[in-house]
Amino acid sequence: MSNEYDLVILGGGPGGYVAAIRASQLDLKVAIVEKEKLGGTCLHKGCIPSKALLRSAEVYRQTKEANSYGIDVNELTLNFSKVQNRKEDIINRLHQGVQGLMKKGKIDVYNGIGRILGPSIFSPIPGTISIEHENGEENTMLIPKNVLIATGSKPRTLDFDIDGTYVLTSDEALKMEELPNSIIIVGGGVIGIEWASMLVDFGVNVTVLEYADQILPTEDKDIAKEVESQLKQRGVTVKTGIKVLSETLSKDEQVKISGEIKDKEQTFQADKILLSVGREANIDNIGLQNTSIEVKDNYIITNEYYQTKESHIYAIGDVVGSAQLAHVASHEGIVAVEHIAGKDPLTLKDDEIPSCIYSHPEVASIGFTEEEAKEQGFDVKVGKFSFQGNGKALVYGESNGFVKIIANKKNDDLLGIHMVGPQVTELISEATLAKFVDAIPWEISNTIHPHPSLSEAIGEAALAVDGFQLHG
Ligand code: FAD
Ligand code: NAD
Repeated sequence: MSNEYDLVILGGGPGGYVAAIRASQLDLKVAIVEKEKLGGTCLHKGCIPSKALLRSAEVYRQTKEANSYGIDVNELTLNFSKVQNRKEDIINRLHQGVQGLMKKGKIDVYNGIGRILGPSIFSPIPGTISIEHENGEENTMLIPKNVLIATGSKPRTLDFDIDGTYVLTSDEALKMEELPNSIIIVGGGVIGIEWASMLVDFGVNVTVLEYADQILPTEDKDIAKEVESQLKQRGVTVKTGIKVLSETLSKDEQVKISGEIKDKEQTFQADKILLSVGREANIDNIGLQNTSIEVKDNYIITNEYYQTKESHIYAIGDVVGSAQLAHVASHEGIVAVEHIAGKDPLTLKDDEIPSCIYSHPEVASIGFTEEEAKEQGFDVKVGKFSFQGNGKALVYGESNGFVKIIANKKNDDLLGIHMVGPQVTELISEATLAKFVDAIPWEISNTIHPHPSLSEAIGEAALAVDGFQLHG
């Protein structure tokens, strides 16, 4: 392989590898440096493995409920090692797929830790990439015209000692060979709630300790309330407004930890603790000190095309502090590469990015929550439609939840769409398209939704914005 490139990408996650594909389509000579496996956190430690486990948990729960559909099931056994094998099979298949895509795009893939060098004999400006190989081989040097940093993130650990037995992050939890009887989940954000839902469905005794005064603090209040209520009905203990005191952690047969709620201390005990208190950017040891790249709150600062202070070095994905989502990383990668190729790409707008939580119930949202819209000074009107009034939801057997649409009273602009209930992580794409094309509720309600379908709830919520819902 010749070592001169138009673009070298550090990190082969959904940000890096998608950027590489787009670069290859635009005839750039491109290489990826990846220290672990192509696919990154999303494929190996995040989106895909967690969703595979959630799906097994869902099938287990639904099979237990099968008699309500007229199907008697006598004996039911959970074989967790098969659950894990299924997850691994899915990961392997997708990993092979990504490797195939790299071959198809003639993208050179280097295995090792990549670092950015300052001005050197190879180049008068920072950006030469030195690759350290695990097998101790001499470092490889790559000389790119442009660099894209896509090194992703790792779990925040606060001052907990992650021993992998008693105290875990999602990285260790995904590798559990056996399920614990009980678990304390510190942090009731996205990871905490997906795991609470999955583990309670697998029969684990779950306690969620969340610092904020609602679980899923970035979601609309009504949505968070519905999720909390459904989790509690399935037996999850949820404590909000609790400050977990890491120094009180003790490990014996079980772990014990205390937290403060309204100045009162409460102690919790379980087999394991799962720490899900956010993620931090992988910016250490990648050579930023050799550049003039600026960092704020430990995230790399960029402009809207993901250019850093060094105009030939770009950064995207979890490392830049935008929404830490795979689809965001990928889109940012595309924008950066198109900009490198001299195109004029569409930049990302925060209120056009959907976010989904794959718990039971599922949550999906886009745009402002009702509280945020009011804080921004909008005079809002809200349409809400419950899945109780939707035939397909009843047929499906899951009619708890609703669709909530927030619009601007003055000009009917869509401000936010929030959903909790069956299949909403699929339904959200209609809302995303509506936001993208700047539709108003009237246009959504006049779009003909098939009957019976869960999507009718979106049409009804759009009608409800002006009080004209038909079935509620
Ligand atoms: P990453 O995916 O983290 O990839 C970065 C890559 O860079 C890694 O492969 C790493 O090995 C490599 N790397 C780091 N440093 C170097 C170096 N110096 N040299 C070479 N290589 C390096 N998002 C969703 O949208 N949907 C979900 O359902 C979802 N579920 C999640 C579940 C969990 C449990 C977790 C932890 C995350 C989840 N996410 C989800 C978030 C999603 O995984 C991330 O937003 C996404 O992976 C970010 O992509 P990225 O390319 O920026 O970084
Ligand atoms: P998060 O930011 O979603 O939630 C962390 C939670 O921990 C917050 O609610 C916060 O208030 C709480 N917290 C922080 N410190 C605490 C403390 N000391 N005690 C108690 N609670 C505390 O982060 P996460 O759940 O770790 O997820 C990390 C990232 O991964 C998220 O940004 C998310 O975008 C991404 N992710 C996405 C998906 C998805 O798209 N379905 C799934 C999993 C993860």
